[in-house]
Amino acid sequence: METTPATTGDVEMTQVIHQALVDKHLLPQKHIVDTAYVDAQHLLTSETPLGLELLGPVPSNSSWQEKAKLGFELSCFTVDWEHRHATCRQGHISKSWHQRSDNYGYPVIQVRERRPDCVACSVRSQCTHSPATARVLTLKLQPLYEAEAKL
Ligand code: SF4
Repeated sequence: METTPATTGDVEMTQVIHQALVDKHLLPQKHIVDTAYVDAQHLLTSETPLGLELLGPVPSNSSWQEKAKLGFELSCFTVDWEHRHATCRQGHISKSWHQRSDNYGYPVIQVRERRPDCVACSVRSQCTHSPATARVLTLKLQPLYEAEAKL
């Protein structure tokens, strides 16, 4: 048992639990967890250094675009990893592509569409709530993005 502050997400503890099991020589071959303990990052990391098979549902996309069922969530964009850009449903190609860290310190790619394209877009309300700025996408790194896309 591990007690954590209320602000600590369950998913942040998955690796901690695995390491504690390793330290006690109790790491199982399979670890079955609930939704809160798994994301695409763990699906990859659990397969490699620890040789553990992590089984559990990945949390669904919680963006407002996904919830609206009319919005343009990430899967509506075509990502070109080689040329480092994304193309939206309207056929517009993004302007910038930068790597940064997310709130948990994981590296992510931030892709920004072109402001003139988004401001003039006839379907903007399905894509962004901002009336004056461009759509910004946050992508996990390619192996994680592709692992999640297969789920
Ligand atoms: S708002 Fe921008 S990114 Fe979204 S569909 Fe329109 S042009 Fe493309």
